[in-house]
Amino acid sequence: MIYLDYNATTPLSDGVKKSIIENLDNFYNPSSIYSESKKMLQKIQEARKDIAELIRAFPEQIIFTGCSTESNNSVINHCVLNSKIDTPHIIVSSVEHPAILTAAEYYNKIRDVKMTVIPVDAKGNIDIDDICFAITEDTVLVSVMLANNEIGNIYPVASIAKKVHSVNNNIMVHTDATQAIGKMRVDVNELEVDFLTFSGHKFYAPKGVGGLYVRNPEDFMPFIYGGHQEKEKRAGTENTISIIAMGQAAREAAYEEREDKIFHQIKSMRDRAEDVILKRIPGCHVLGDKNNRICNTSCICFDGLNGIEICMLMNNLDFCISSGSACNSITLSPSHVMKAMGINAIPIRMSIGKYTTQEEIDKFCKALQITINKLKKMKGMI
Ligand code: PLP
Repeated sequence: MIYLDYNATTPLSDGVKKSIIENLDNFYNPSSIYSESKKMLQKIQEARKDIAELIRAFPEQIIFTGCSTESNNSVINHCVLNSKIDTPHIIVSSVEHPAILTAAEYYNKIRDVKMTVIPVDAKGNIDIDDICFAITEDTVLVSVMLANNEIGNIYPVASIAKKVHSVNNNIMVHTDATQAIGKMRVDVNELEVDFLTFSGHKFYAPKGVGGLYVRNPEDFMPFIYGGHQEKEKRAGTENTISIIAMGQAAREAAYEEREDKIFHQIKSMRDRAEDVILKRIPGCHVLGDKNNRICNTSCICFDGLNGIEICMLMNNLDFCISSGSACNSITLSPSHVMKAMGINAIPIRMSIGKYTTQEEIDKFCKALQITINKLKKMKGMI
């Protein structure tokens, strides 16, 4: 199998595997009083420090959660329930992950929450003025992702946060950085955000562990109540082995960022693949903003062809790619991101990572050309 779906999830890095194996027998509950437990708590704190360093935060501003979905839900929960406003208003972009959009719709039902969804243009970009115009006296939260999972666009979160805070410093700004961590530099101070979401399995750590950066953690209202873990901000016995593994993944991401090699290598493989595909296959288009994307993502649509069919045929040739987001892969209609961009088509998404080789990319381009020709023949298009 040639795996080219790193935005859906990443393999474990070698260092992460080693960390998991080394800690397999470290089953102690970090909240217990004996020395082995204290060691586990210490390792959790080291992981917290590693994650904090990666995003230029303080360790005490990191709360470990189960995944990005939980982190995103926690932010909306906090902003809505902590607000004294009767009808809190939240602003989100139309291309957010369902972990924001669906959660916002839920709060809209259980409490009188108003929601403004900011449109994007045909390239998937947001106009910051639209956000400013949408702000009302009741606005409690603006949530715009740092990088989009389907098209890879990077959003101007720093400028958005600056503008929003200049209008009203009490409005919280959140960014879902799930697809940005490990693919670009992330600095919570430059971004000026109040909350930032991340998930281990998108940067070579295991599934089932994620986290939330909170600028002022002492004010944060928990989403899950119970024990005293995470300074009472997220109850539940810690997923120790995975948290430690995510710390290792964060150290690796920080090292790769310092070395400044891997992003370039990944980007040049992605760009070369797009050049080859655009040259060899007529009637295809790269979607999103080609000049402002994370390094690893390529979203391409083919005139008259359905991306799901392409993915299935490519799977028969041993390639793993997707037709947008993994969450949307069972529906047969264009994703909400495509619809928001005014595109009535289902594309394919190739997303690569640090274990992708040029040889794999070359094989992919060749197989894609064969697949598209086959599909066009089957449909009488050639
Ligand atoms: N946000 C974005 C942008 C994503 O791409 C994803 C997963 O694909 C999520 C949130 C949900 O992440 P998790 O699987 O960690 O809940």
